Formats: sequence, C-alpha cells, structure tokens
Amino acid sequence: MKKTAIFFGVNSLTDEIVENYSSQLDLLYIIDNNSKYWTGGGEFFFNLRVEPPSDRIKSADYIIIVATAYRGEMEMQLRTEFDISSDKIIYLPWPNKLEDYVGKFPKILAITLGADSCINSCLMCPQHIERPHTSCWLDLDILKKAVSEMIHEDSIFVISCMSEPLLAPNLLDAIKIIREKKPKSQIMIDTCGSVYDEKVMEELFKYINKIKISLNVITAEDYRVLMGTDNFDAVVSNIWKSKSYIDTHNLDVTIIVQISKFKKLKYSEYYQFAKQFKDKGIWVHLNDIYDFNAFPKFGELSSKLKNEGFEPVLEVKQGRYPCASLFGSFNLVEDGCYYPCHYVSSHGMSHVEDKVYSLGAASQTTLNDVCEQLGSLQEMHLKDDYSCLICRDCNAWTLGIEYFRHKLTAFKG
Ligand code: SF4
Ligand code: SF4
Repeated sequence: MKKTAIFFGVNSLTDEIVENYSSQLDLLYIIDNNSKYWTGGGEFFFNLRVEPPSDRIKSADYIIIVATAYRGEMEMQLRTEFDISSDKIIYLPWPNKLEDYVGKFPKILAITLGADSCINSCLMCPQHIERPHTSCWLDLDILKKAVSEMIHEDSIFVISCMSEPLLAPNLLDAIKIIREKKPKSQIMIDTCGSVYDEKVMEELFKYINKIKISLNVITAEDYRVLMGTDNFDAVVSNIWKSKSYIDTHNLDVTIIVQISKFKKLKYSEYYQFAKQFKDKGIWVHLNDIYDFNAFPKFGELSSKLKNEGFEPVLEVKQGRYPCASLFGSFNLVEDGCYYPCHYVSSHGMSHVEDKVYSLGAASQTTLNDVCEQLGSLQEMHLKDDYSCLICRDCNAWTLGIEYFRHKLTAFKG
C-alpha cells in the first residue's frame, strides 16, 4: 500500500523540501504552534493550519516525516495526541544554512535592561547562588546609539533583565526609544509575569509585539520549589489579564507561555495544561533547559535542580558543536557593553573584572566593528575551534544542537 509522508513544523518547510518530497507525498500536513515566535515565515504559513486526520495518522501505512527545530515538542505531540511512537518518525535535516549567518549584521539584538535582586529565586538561575550586589540599569543614551546602529529596519529586539523586567525603572522609556528609532521592528519582552501593574502593562502593550512569560512548570507546587515563590496562581491570572486587555483593545500582541522541559513533566498533563491557553490563541512554548554547568562558577545549580527532582530532558552531549546562541542572541548588557550571546550576561559573567568577555563598549565602538568580532567567533565555531575565552568552558551550546546536528555533517564535508 502506498505510504504517505507528513511534514510537521512550518519554520522548516522550505520550497526546496517541498520540491524534493512533494511528489512522494499523499498528504502534506503542516502543524506548528511556535513558528511565529522565531520567524516571519511562520506567520505566512500559520493560516494554513488544519487539524490532522488522526485516524489516518495512526495507521501503520503512514511514514511520519518531521522537519522542525522543535523536535522534542513535536515528538511529544505525536505521542500524546496521535499515539505515534518515536520509532515511526523520520527527522529531516534542519534546513537553515548556518554559514549564511556568519559575519552578517545581526537582525536580533538581545537587550538586558539591568541587574537587580529578583523577586524569584529560581533553581536554574545564578541569582539562586549570588544576587547582584547593587542595582545597575542600562543607560538610555547608550541604548539609543545601539538601536540607531542596527541596520535592519525590521530588526528584532528581545528585552530581558537580570531580575523582573516589568519592574525595571527604564523599561517603558527603553521600549519607546526602540519603537521611535525602529518603527517596523519586532519587540519582545521576556518576563516571569509575577507582577501586573495596570498602568505599566497598558503602556507596554501599545509598543510591544510579543510577551513571553516564563511559567516553567504546570503546578503551583512545582513552581514553589523551582521558582522559590508562591506566585504560580498570580502568574496564570496575569496571563489571562494580559490576554483580556489585548483582545478588548484589539492589539496585535502575541502572548507566549514558556514551560521548561524537565524529565518529571508528564506529556499528557502538559498538553492538558497547555490546551487551555492554546484554545484561546495564547502560544505555549516547551523550552529546553540544560543542566546549568554553563559556566563552572554555577555548576552547583545542576545538582540542586536534580536533587529537587527537576532534571532537564536535555543532556550535555559528548563532543562539541557550534553554539546556536552565537548566531541569534547577540546582547547589549546593562554595563553598556556588547556580548556575543545572552548567556554571558544571564550568568552574571558580564560583571567579571576587566570586561574580558565583552566585545566592546557601545559608547566607544560601532556595532559594525563589534559585528566583525562576532563574525570571527562564529567562524571559529564552525571550524570546531572553541578556544575563545567566553565559550571555552560554557556548555550552553548544547541547547541549540537540534539546529545543527544534521547540518554539521554537510558543513564539515
Ligand atoms: S530566572 Fe529570572 S525570574 Fe528566576 S530568579 Fe533568575 S532573573 Fe529571577
Ligand atoms: S558557547 Fe556559551 S558563551 Fe559561547 S556563544 Fe554559546 S552560550 Fe554563549
């Protein structure tokens, strides 16, 4: 009997793939709940979303082909919603060409608004071990300069903070500066969502495109252990408050709820929990988390997580691969310096003496010059050279492995 191939993951669906495979297909099925988060391509395909004929998918006559960067989530979805075991799934190479990004002026700028003692004390965060000694906030003149130097009008700005950004004193001014300098940009704010000041939120929703709320877990009990506070119900309530305000005022703001992939998470419970949001147009992103040995200084977070029963699904791989973060999380930090990825600042490594991890102070250099340095680092990674000071001891590269696992074979020839 003729077999049918099914594609999942719209981000990954390129013309090339369609051309190569469509003649062999009986059914082309497109599903993705997160594509909008990463690329504009997803928005194009999103309207094509249809529900799959689950009785056909379950049939033994079908081959399931998956092309996605969200392999873990797709695998879970197939298993829980369609009862398809992973041995029936064939994965296609992630089709983006890594080399296309080398030395290119970045389209994404991660901006860390400041560092302060956080209201939470997450087991996976350096704040659990060491709080910032003093508050420090990004100078808005430096921000203006950096945003002006971003050459792409449709740049993406990802705003976070080494504490709760919704409490950052420079938040609204920073957002307004970005919107004024780059009216066509995408602005996303990354928050834990524990607070909801109506005045701040209503102002914020006028300017941003996306708000990502890191809930991380699906029960109040797990939240208490992982995040160190009793704010689970407050965060869920704030998600709904945000949704209600956005809908009532007809604003084009996407809400993304982020849940972390720990081994203890039961897929069926996750889907049940996520469904309440997805059904109302709130995106849910199942996020890989890695064992936090990222920098040796914070190695103990890894054992703390495991001791409390929060073992990440993702394990540190043997060997070494280029780091995806180096290609997409270029970071302006509250100290006014650029760093090659946001892991350096989110681990407080931007506070080390002499700024040894920095690519330069924004006030004294141009983004163009900094990008040349970034390009050199990217090239080093692609040549399997991880000797640079920043990346040498870091293991956060593990997070992006799904992007490059297949690609590398081709790249390295
Ligand atoms: S992960 Fe975020 S919310 Fe949690 S303690 Fe760190 S800064 Fe605060
Ligand atoms: S290896 Fe670590 S420090 Fe280097 S780019 Fe990746 S996340 Fe950043």
